Amino acid sequence: MTALPHPSASELSPFPPASPLLPTAEIAALEHADRAHLWKPFTQMAGYVAGKPLIVADAAGNWLRDVHGRSFLDGVSSLWVNLHGHNHPTIVAALKEQLDTLDHATLLGPTNVPATELAARLVDLAPDGLTRVFYSDSGSTAVEIAVKMAYQYFAQHRDDAERRRNVFISMTNAYHGDTLGSVSVGGIDLFHQLYAPLLFETIKAPAPDPYHRAFGRPVAEHEAECLAELERRIAAHDGRVAALVMEPLMQGAAGMIAHTPDFLAKAAALARDAGALVVLDEVATGFGRTGTMFACEQAGVAPDLLCLAKGISGGVLPLAATLASERVYEGFLGEHSEYRTFFHGHSYTGNPLACAAALASLDVFAEEGVLDRIQGTIARLAGHLEVIAAHPNVGDIRRHGLMTGIEVVADKATGSAFDGTLRVGNRIIERAMEHGVLIRPLGDVVVLMPPLSITDDELDLLCGVVLRCIDEVVGELG
Ligand SMILES: *Cc1c(COP(=O)(O)O)cnc(C)c1O
Repeated sequence: MTALPHPSASELSPFPPASPLLPTAEIAALEHADRAHLWKPFTQMAGYVAGKPLIVADAAGNWLRDVHGRSFLDGVSSLWVNLHGHNHPTIVAALKEQLDTLDHATLLGPTNVPATELAARLVDLAPDGLTRVFYSDSGSTAVEIAVKMAYQYFAQHRDDAERRRNVFISMTNAYHGDTLGSVSVGGIDLFHQLYAPLLFETIKAPAPDPYHRAFGRPVAEHEAECLAELERRIAAHDGRVAALVMEPLMQGAAGMIAHTPDFLAKAAALARDAGALVVLDEVATGFGRTGTMFACEQAGVAPDLLCLAKGISGGVLPLAATLASERVYEGFLGEHSEYRTFFHGHSYTGNPLACAAALASLDVFAEEGVLDRIQGTIARLAGHLEVIAAHPNVGDIRRHGLMTGIEVVADKATGSAFDGTLRVGNRIIERAMEHGVLIRPLGDVVVLMPPLSITDDELDLLCGVVLRCIDEVVGELG
């Protein structure tokens, strides 16, 4: 195996060598409270409470530090949210100022300064035709709202034929969040199957997945087959399709399953030709992750509804936005007595603090020339991934921009997976923690989702440690 040279975490961490940040008794009390009371997301708690929790105490730049004073490179941007590093001075200053000015005021009725400014800035940045911004608090609600908007848009359409449109087409293996509407358009059986009786029915179209579904065959051929299937599904519900919902370029939670911009453009065109709306979920791909501000730009697709969350606030506060076209928006206008209103809203909709953070994050994009700067980072990552791809147990690497999935397999020749009970992906990330790198796998796919602010040295560390840990862990399996 060719090793990637990498600096050590202790060389790069902005923190001094490990020494506890809290007295031993306080740490013990925290560990006890964590085990006794905290129920954690997507976590089998039986295994969790048996181990030692990683209790994060503070952060600087692209690094997190735990209560014992150990430093960790934040290799997945604190689950895909952080963009410019932690505690970025521009965002911190904006938040402090906002906190002294206005903490919260409802958007039901009144408006507020940051929410208004941010709406205009998002419309400026977004693909053409998206003119209206509806706020919420998470990726799940951003999608939930898009689905309800699309449904209501047609349900109250002034044209009788259009009111028949109530069918949603979504993709296999899609992930759009955990609320019931977003689960309905999701397609990951492990997360979603159990809730089937609670969900509305959607038509699932096969998403491209060349490595698992067309091993060794040309990607273009496989994508053409998927498009033909999509076309058949749409035709089977002729005149009844309300919207196509999909993650552009990369199905994140599915295990970083990528398709080409060409597929996205053609899928969107099929939906449009059938009179359906196009809903793009850029919760994960938005804000530079794929190398452009939004992934859909690479396909020249401007959706009717665009879902944003995760990176929108720079990864600092919960915030989401569903952007809509003027056509969709106008479908909700009418006399008060017509009740065409979008009856949806959350207590913290348009929270001024979250919106101030988002505005500051957009300032950082402009001031630091982030989208230009990351092109170099992306090229460096691509170089490292070529080395990683040569490892005998790396079956496939999928990447758009900085969003990367490295699939670790038992047999490279056939692409066959390791037995799931071996928890290979988990073992790799546990090993990476020992080297000061925090990542999180999806099954046996090692996900790299570094902050846009990751330095060259830090990227070398991230990739070097990942390769070394893959090699060590599969080596130990014998
Ligand atoms: C994470 C994610 C969501 C859900 O966002 P939450 O903020 O966790 O509710 C929706 N869609 C995509 C593509 C995501 O990656």
